[in-house]
Amino acid sequence: MREISKNLKCVVMRNGIEIWKEDDRLTDLAKKLSSGQKIGFIQIDDELINSADVVGIFSANTMQDMIRRKNGQWKCQYGTWHDKGEKCDCKEKMPKTCISCGQVADNYIYTERGILCTKCWFGR
Ligand SMILES: [Zn+2]
Ligand SMILES: [Zn+2]
Repeated sequence: MREISKNLKCVVMRNGIEIWKEDDRLTDLAKKLSSGQKIGFIQIDDELINSADVVGIFSANTMQDMIRRKNGQWKCQYGTWHDKGEKCDCKEKMPKTCISCGQVADNYIYTERGILCTKCWFGR
């Protein structure tokens, strides 16, 4: 996977071509596109883009998510990406913070309300 720098945005075309440009090089295109008017071809740097074929302008993050989905990865409810077929173990990996005393617990019990450390559990 190529490195994607933060201030790059991607113009995705209907034919699947991705045109990566610095954010500020695309302000003009974005403005024209969102105006809703028929604008035809637009020149950006040395390229001529048919505005009718533009699917959208996406951030690097969105593109990265798309690349991951294409590769079969999926995002779990904890916001972590997992490989295809990989099971989500984020719940186990999360720090076990006691809902009563707020300390990270070494020994804990799952309750309906959340995680209780054994001290709070027995001290109830
Ligand atoms: Zn997960
Ligand atoms: Zn506790």
